Amino acid sequence: MNPFQFDIRNLPVDGKQVTGTLPPSFFQLPETDLLKADTPLAYDLNIIRDDDDIIINGSVNVTFSLECGRCLERFQIQLDMSDYSAEQAIEKETTIDLTDLIREDILLALPNFPRCEDGNVDPRDCPAEGRFQVTESSLTQEMPEAQDGVWNALDQLK
Ligand SMILES: [Zn+2]
Repeated sequence: MNPFQFDIRNLPVDGKQVTGTLPPSFFQLPETDLLKADTPLAYDLNIIRDDDDIIINGSVNVTFSLECGRCLERFQIQLDMSDYSAEQAIEKETTIDLTDLIREDILLALPNFPRCEDGNVDPRDCPAEGRFQVTESSLTQEMPEAQDGVWNALDQLK
């Protein structure tokens, strides 16, 4: 049963409360995708009609794992949206499904370019942070030595 799908005509005037959890498959993320829902979605939402709109208010909570675009390691982000709100225009006085709206709102709260620093479950510095600067300076310093090493090795081969 889909808690976000209901007949508008049956919606009480003072709204209804939907509370529960939905499995990670709610997000319909591809198996191979870099983004994964690690926990069920916990939701506690009030759904009420306001003229020609359906208004949703409440909280949603779910933890995702993502791949850092810099170091390619996985990290987790817990989205704890305690003041989530959304609205959807009523087009027909019939069944309405808020699933896509809620799914997209949650996914849009995730960073476009995920980095370790965005993680809030097990915070850490990105191991690749500043690697380029380090590599450049250590390159110029270590080059002669490295070349010596190569030449020495070649000398020993003769
Ligand atoms: Zn990283």
